Amino acid sequence: MSDKPFPGLRSLISESPGKPITFRELTAGTRELTEAMNQFVADMNAATNTMLEIGQILKPHHQLCPVCGENPLKDTLEFRRSIAAQIKAELINPGGRELHFIDGRRLQLADMCNACDEAKIRAFMSTKLWDVWIEGFVVNGSREPAKYLGQTEALSFRDAAEHVLQRCGFIINPPIFDRQRLTYYGCRLFDNEADARASFG
Ligand SMILES: [Zn+2]
Repeated sequence: MSDKPFPGLRSLISESPGKPITFRELTAGTRELTEAMNQFVADMNAATNTMLEIGQILKPHHQLCPVCGENPLKDTLEFRRSIAAQIKAELINPGGRELHFIDGRRLQLADMCNACDEAKIRAFMSTKLWDVWIEGFVVNGSREPAKYLGQTEALSFRDAAEHVLQRCGFIINPPIFDRQRLTYYGCRLFDNEADARASFG
């Protein structure tokens, strides 16, 4: 911002201090005055925008986390990215309010501190014990019933299925193992016996 705004008006006043400025004198200075005013408004806008930007940056840091009420709220996007990278999850929302896991699960995240954020993510991705079953089939009159393949701890059934298949010495490359459809040579994989036996016993 200019340290001396309205130079036209200033010079007019300093020429004859205390004397009223005539309309003619004022209009003579109008062009310069208008330019000065425009510059002043532009400077103010720039300053206001800077203030707003600073406000946006500061805002998350002086609010307390609504979950624990103790830690300051932070912009957790970078933090979530690092966690996501660790657990091989994909962050699909640029706002960072959602974690999209490889197996298709999604976790909605609210504004909270890094500690609560991590706790929520870790709870969501905590492993579980999965049973893996493969359904049977009927081919050319020969019939194979459903088979129990094993049990493993994993984040998701997809991970569990892949791990158990691998452990059983099965080929886990596509298209033999279809990770999306959860099939092995077209036979569907299940996490329970009832579903696995529903079609072919
Ligand atoms: Zn918190």
